[in-house]
Amino acid sequence: LIGRIAALSRATGQSPPSWAMAAFLPPESAFTVDFFFMKNSAFLCDVVVVECADEYSIAKRMRKLKYFFRIIMVAAAALCCSCGNGESGARDSAAVLENGSSEESEYGGTGRQEIGANRYVDTAMGTVIQQTVYASEETAADFYVKSMALLKELEEERLSWRLETSEVWRINGTAGNEEGCGISEETAGVLRDCVELYERSDGAFDVTLGALTRLWNIDKWAAGGLDDGEADGFRLPSSADVEHALKLCGSDKIRLAAAGLGEGEPRVFLPEGMGLDLGAVGKGLAQSGLQGLLEAEEGVAGAVISLGGSILTFGDKPDGSPWKVGIVNPFDTSSNVGTLSLKGQWCVSTSGDYERYVEKDGVRYHHILDPHTGYPAVSDVRGVTILAKNGTLSDGLSTACFLLGPERGMELAEEYEVEVLFVMSDGQIVMSEGMETYFTEF
Ligand code: AMP
Ligand code: MG
Repeated sequence: LIGRIAALSRATGQSPPSWAMAAFLPPESAFTVDFFFMKNSAFLCDVVVVECADEYSIAKRMRKLKYFFRIIMVAAAALCCSCGNGESGARDSAAVLENGSSEESEYGGTGRQEIGANRYVDTAMGTVIQQTVYASEETAADFYVKSMALLKELEEERLSWRLETSEVWRINGTAGNEEGCGISEETAGVLRDCVELYERSDGAFDVTLGALTRLWNIDKWAAGGLDDGEADGFRLPSSADVEHALKLCGSDKIRLAAAGLGEGEPRVFLPEGMGLDLGAVGKGLAQSGLQGLLEAEEGVAGAVISLGGSILTFGDKPDGSPWKVGIVNPFDTSSNVGTLSLKGQWCVSTSGDYERYVEKDGVRYHHILDPHTGYPAVSDVRGVTILAKNGTLSDGLSTACFLLGPERGMELAEEYEVEVLFVMSDGQIVMSEGMETYFTEF
């Protein structure tokens, strides 16, 4: 294990290395959303998953408890060594793998074909991915490997605006070109959906905010918040810069051309200087991709996958009980305001001003920008949760409804036939009628 940690350290180039440690939730307990403290890049994170805890409190605690956890890691390493190699071991076995993942199988030592709860924790798309897969150990392991490959591909080949390998990078790089940019059918479909949501949300949801999100440097802000703009040297943009960036935004300026009959590919045309930021639907697209993968994988009875603040449920638990999904309390993110009890396939997405933000000189700047002002949205909403069958919709609508507030947000959710729950700044909970069927308040 120590060798593996050293390899992880070499791979990440970090000295001293970042540590990952996971204590797994029992399957019947509520999954809480977002458990992590992220440092700059996806693979350099300190992760602690604690039952019914969450990102903010962990982020704060992690800074103080780092050395304590290091001691625990060494103790765990010693324990693993004394128990053998730790593979297919006892119920509580956990191992930190070379790729930074940690995995466990309840049924590790007792018959590989038996359906059990196989749990995995890993990082991808700048967030922590937690999976519980009810299947035989082989099927679950196969699904886990495929799912991580899918998430990597989604980020590296389609969504990241920082990686030269991605479609979004190419689209942004060709903004202003007369011939536009050839894109995949999938990306064209996503852009069509996003433009539709832009129109139906009166411009509140806008995936062309690239110039603005770069100006605010949002993707550098740690989840769980930074005090006093620490670490990344937060700089408040000047109003002139915000004005200028705003002029380069607006989904109404995207032009999409369908592929020719039987040949060619769809093309997208952006005006010069415009940049896409698909951050508001990225995890939802991942949910949709994982849904397809789960359907195609024979032998998975049920699964629950958490991607940061987005949760996907699939199939059933062997004991027939519902999946429990916790909704974080924005006022005390170490607790939940309640849980959703879900059966079968669902996507749950949450957007909130507490998820990613910077505090500077007593002012909190959060990551959801108002496209009409260029500044973090001023809202009497703290958090919005959407329950939908489709991941992209659920993710996009949670961002849109945060911006629109309960009245307009509720209407929009109804139009899209999804359920919505708002946690307001006075602590009140406002939800759609259908949501009441699933939600239990604490
Ligand atoms: P979410 O956490 O799904 O609500 O998405 C928030 C992310 O979407 C931000 O971190 C930005 O990258 C991006 N974003 C910020 N404001 C908007 C907006 N008004 N419309 C669409 N995307 C946005
Ligand atoms: Mg979203």
